[in-house]
Order: sequence, then C-alpha cells, then structure tokens
Amino acid sequence: MSVDKINIFNRTKKDLEDFLKNESIKLFRKNQIWNWLYVQGVKSFFEMNNLSLTLKEQLEKKFKISFLTVNKAFTSKDGTKKWLFKLNDGKEIETVFIPDGKRGTICISSQVGCSLSCSFCHTGTMKLERNLELEEIIGQVITVKNFLKDWKKKTEEKIVTNIVFMGMGEPLLNYRNVIEAIKVLTDEKGLAISKRKITLSTSGIVNKIKDFQRDTDINLAVSLHAANDKVRNELVPINKKWPIATLLEELKIYNKLERKKRITFEYIMLDGINDSLKDAKQLIKLVGPLKSKINLIPFNPWPNSSYDVSSNEKIEKFRNFILEKGKIIATIRNPRGNDILAACGQLKSFKKKNTIKEGL
Ligand code: SAH
Ligand code: SF4
Repeated sequence: MSVDKINIFNRTKKDLEDFLKNESIKLFRKNQIWNWLYVQGVKSFFEMNNLSLTLKEQLEKKFKISFLTVNKAFTSKDGTKKWLFKLNDGKEIETVFIPDGKRGTICISSQVGCSLSCSFCHTGTMKLERNLELEEIIGQVITVKNFLKDWKKKTEEKIVTNIVFMGMGEPLLNYRNVIEAIKVLTDEKGLAISKRKITLSTSGIVNKIKDFQRDTDINLAVSLHAANDKVRNELVPINKKWPIATLLEELKIYNKLERKKRITFEYIMLDGINDSLKDAKQLIKLVGPLKSKINLIPFNPWPNSSYDVSSNEKIEKFRNFILEKGKIIATIRNPRGNDILAACGQLKSFKKKNTIKEGL
C-alpha cells in the first residue's frame, strides 16, 4: 500500500546505498538513480529507462517520488515568487524564489514556526510547531525547480543557482536534517549547487557553530542586528543565553579555521532603535577584528509589527560610516517581493493547529 512507502527524497545517498546493498543490487546503480532524481527531475521510477524493469519495480515497491503540495502561489511585480506548501500533517511552510539577472535564489524554511521569538520577525510570532524533515527541506527546492522547469540543464543555464536558509525557522536548531539537506544540495552528481552559493543564516546558536564548521563548507550569516546586549536582548532574545561577546568569541574561532571565508553579519535597520551613528561606531568596534562583511537589511513591516523601517537616508549614512570609518564591507539589501509579503521575516503560516511546545 502506498501509505507505507518512503519518499525517496527523505533518503540520503548513504541510505540509498544501503538499500541497494540489502537488495544485492550493483552499487553503480546508485549514481544512475541519483541522476534521474536530481538532474533529470523524473516523476516516476518507470521513467528511469537505463534501469531494468525488476529494479524499477523494486524501487517502486519500497519508495515513492513525492513533491510538496502547493496550497497557494504568489508572484510579485518584481518577479519574486512565493509558494505556500501544505505538508502531510496539514502544517504549512513558505518558500520564496528571487530572480536577479543570472542569479536565482531560493529562500528555504527549516522549521514550521520558530522557538526564538525575535521581536521584529513575523515567523517569531508563531510558536515552533516542528522541525522539517529532510524530504521537506529538499522538497522545497525540487518542487520549485519543477515549477521553473529547471531540470536537465548545464550549470550555466540553470535557473536556481543559490540557496539561502533564511525562511521560517532557525536552521541550527534542526541541525541533522539541515546538514543532510546541504549534502544533497551540493552533491556534484545531483543538484550540484556550489557550496559557495549556499548560505545559512543563524540568530547565533553558539553551541552549534563548531559542529557547523566541521560538518559543512557553506557560507555563514549571523543575525547580529544590534551592537550592544541591551538592544540585542530586546530584538533577539536568544542573546540572553549567548550574549554578543560569547557569540563573537565563537565566531573568532570559526574565522581562524575558515581563513578564506567572510562571515556575513545581518543587521536589520529599525528606526530609532539601532540605526544611530553611535550604534554604527559600536558595531565597527565589535566586528572590526573579524573577517566579515555587514549586510544592512531594511526592516520589512508586517501587519501589527511594532517597528518602523529607518529612512533610506539614514541607512545610507549608516552604511557609509561603516565603510569609511570602519573600512568594513557593508551592503544594503534590496527588498524584494514586498507586495506579496515574500521578504525575509514575513514568512508566516496563518494556520495553527496541534501546536507542540518545544524549547531549545
Ligand atoms: N532564523 C534564522 C534564519 C531565518 S530569518 C535567523 O534569524 O538568522 C532570516 C533573516 O531575516 C534574519 O537575518 C532575520 O533576522 C531577518 N528578518 C526577520 N524578520 C525580518 C523583517 N521583518 N524584516 C527584515 N528582515 C527580517
Ligand atoms: Fe526565528 Fe530567525 Fe525569526 Fe528570530 S529572526 S524568530 S531566529 S526565524
């Protein structure tokens, strides 16, 4: 019965290898199957036409090829697309695709909701409902690739080129599934997304940064958002557990081990809260010693949010001050998909059922 079948997208390459071994099937089949799934984008095992009928039937008996179900889809006037996916248990997540010239970025979710309640974040107003499974993280990418017809393409022709873990949830609190998903995303015989084009954004889960450094080679972005503990405690409450000094100590170690990489510090621009030149001075002092860059994010307001975005003039002044006085690379993020609430921190499912309370 199909209910007992495992979604093949919930299996790592190692799991697939174990399956082949158990069934006494030659291991070279692993890469063939992988290619059908992640390069050709097939919808059925019976399309895998270099496999014997027996093997197709063996696969069909044990597995299914199942994509995410779309509940709603939106397209912004700037070309940004947002999908609201309905998961098997009825919960919902959002995924965004942002086209930008030759670059196409998918912003993926790692959890349903989030446990960290940052005060400026729409997702933060939800409780954490649960972690996403491997098939649900990978499912966001392959389902979007289906919609974009982005299969069977040479590297330079691919529409999806970049991935950011900046959707709903804190990726380092769904560690195992996120790491397995990164392995699938970067597998050179499959989706083959360059590790330099994948970024994980964390609010600063200090006790997972060493593991992250050891287990994967993608880019790290850290949601700093404030240059002193008083303001950061308000904005990013996890700061009470791991204050700025502790976070930066850990990032110094990361910097030493990852000599070639710059850490991106994300800094949200909130009117009158963290956008003065005094804040900019403190910020320079904090991050100056690190190999890093700063990405200033204009706050995206959402219904009933209690902050305002800083004026463009103030954001530019702040950026120029960091560039000139701090000699630190600083960029301003160009907000995308505002008309469809597709920007970072606006991702939120409105349906809340069977909420499970989970702490850290
Ligand atoms: N939980 C992780 C990743 C998801 S949030 C993290 O916090 O880093 C991705 C980014 O969007 C973070 O930098 C987050 O602070 C930012 N963000 C959240 N709400 C926002 C909003 N309303 N406007 C602009 N950026 C926001
Ligand atoms: Fe969670 Fe990130 Fe939103 Fe904070 S900003 S509530 S960590 S998703």
